[in-house]
Amino acid sequence: MPRRKKLYEGKAKIIYQGPEPGTIVQYFKDDATAFNNKKKASIVGKGVINNLISEYLMNKISKIGVKTHFLRRLNIREQLVKKVEIIPVEVVVRNIAAGSISKRFAIEEGTKLPRSMVEYYYKDDNLGDPLISEEHITGFGWANINEIEEILNTSLIINDFLKDLFMGVGLKLIDFKIEFGRLYLGNKAEIILADEFSPDNCRLWDSKTNEKMDKDRFRRDLGNVASAYQEVANRLGIDLKKTHSYD
Ligand code: UDP
Repeated sequence: MPRRKKLYEGKAKIIYQGPEPGTIVQYFKDDATAFNNKKKASIVGKGVINNLISEYLMNKISKIGVKTHFLRRLNIREQLVKKVEIIPVEVVVRNIAAGSISKRFAIEEGTKLPRSMVEYYYKDDNLGDPLISEEHITGFGWANINEIEEILNTSLIINDFLKDLFMGVGLKLIDFKIEFGRLYLGNKAEIILADEFSPDNCRLWDSKTNEKMDKDRFRRDLGNVASAYQEVANRLGIDLKKTHSYD
C-alpha cells in the first residue's frame, strides 16, 4: 500500500490522509511531551498501547449512544477515523482535584470535588492552552450555544460511564481531557467525540493504593510509564499481543 499523505504531525500522533474520502488515519507515536513541549521523551510501546486503549474506550463509549469519530483499528499503531472539523476547545472533566485545579485553588490533590466539574481550555500551544469560559467560546465563535450545551452534556455522560467502567477494574478516574469535532451532513453539523482517550489524557489512580497509572508518571518522573499504561490495558482486558491488521 503506498504511504499515505501526511496531513499534520502533533505531539503524540501523526495524521495521514485516509484511504476513503472523509476519513483520516491516526498514527500513535511513542513520543511524550509535557509542560507545553518543554519536556520531551520517547516511551517505548506507548503508541501501541494508547492505540488499543483508545480503540477499546471509543467502542465502549459509542455503545452508550455517544457518536465518536472512531471507525476501526488498522494495525498496532494506526486507526481509521472520520475526518471532522476539530472544535478548538479542550474539555476537561474532573471528579477529584489534581494537577492545575489543585494549584489554582490550593486544593490538596486527591480531594473529592463537590461535584464533577467541567472546564474549557482554548486549544492553542502558543498561548499555552488558556482556561476559558463559555462566554469566550460563543463570543469568539469557536462553538455556538447549542454546540457547547451538547458538548457539556455529552462530556458528563462520558464521565459517568467511564468512572464506573474504570471503577470496575480497580481504577479511579480522577480527570480527563477530550476534544470534539463537527461532522457535516449536508449543511447540518453533528458534534462527535474525536481525538483519543488514553492514559495520555486522563488521570487514573489505583483504587486501593492511589498509585498513578497515567501520564503523571512521565510529567513527575515517577518511572515505569509504559508498564503503568500496560497495566491499565491489562485491567481493561485488552490483549496487547493483538497485532491483527485490516490493511
Ligand atoms: N490534559 C491533556 N492535555 C493538555 C492538558 C491536560 O490531555 O494539554 C489532561 C491531563 O492529562 C489531565 C486533565 O487533562 O488528565 C487535566 O489536566 P490539568 O488541567 O490538571 O493540567 P496538568 O496538570 O496536566 O498540566
